[in-house]
Amino acid sequence: MSGVIVVLGRQGSGKGTQCALLQRRYGGIVHVSTGDMLRDAAASGSPLGRRAEAIMATGELVPDDVMCDVVAERLGPLLESGITVLLDGFPRTPAQAASLAGMTAADGLLGAVLLDVDVAEVSERMLARGRHDDTAVGIARRLELYEEQTAPLVDWFSERAMLQRIDGTGTPAEVFERLTAAVGGLVPLRLSR
Ligand code: AMP
Repeated sequence: MSGVIVVLGRQGSGKGTQCALLQRRYGGIVHVSTGDMLRDAAASGSPLGRRAEAIMATGELVPDDVMCDVVAERLGPLLESGITVLLDGFPRTPAQAASLAGMTAADGLLGAVLLDVDVAEVSERMLARGRHDDTAVGIARRLELYEEQTAPLVDWFSERAMLQRIDGTGTPAEVFERLTAAVGGLVPLRLSR
């Protein structure tokens, strides 16, 4: 059994941290972050990386066709090998959601989990973590794009009865417990050895 669980939430809601914890704790689960993939590509200086780097610096989104190709290439082999993918940072637009539905087999899209944290708190968290695209202007633009492009996906999953909303505030351990319960409702979890 394998499939994709989409992890939604504003930038700074803790998706990356929490997905990494889940991947470490449970077997057969892989965290795929499109932001991390693009940052790795930028560090490697590949053509994709150079293009993405310039876009990321402004807080804008990499074009849908580029992102869909990057994700399809990464997901294909993982899904074939029966792994559960926690997809973080994709889909981010309605076009990407439609593309993901096409990439996953009929029953390969297992569900979506939303880490709910309000704008004031994520802004504070991002300023505190100080990643290089976490400037005040960059943060504001990314949050604006989230409301415009990504928030409608919450409805997209909700209408399909595929959305679980989780309170993303509190300690990382508290959030982890909630997230684990939600993910555990979608796939059987077994501790890694
Ligand atoms: P993240 O780490 O998910 O906040 O992503 C960092 C940056 O990478 C974003 O601000 C976008 O410029 C770009 N990015 C990541 N994922 C996507 C995506 N699915 N579609 C478009 N751009 C993306």
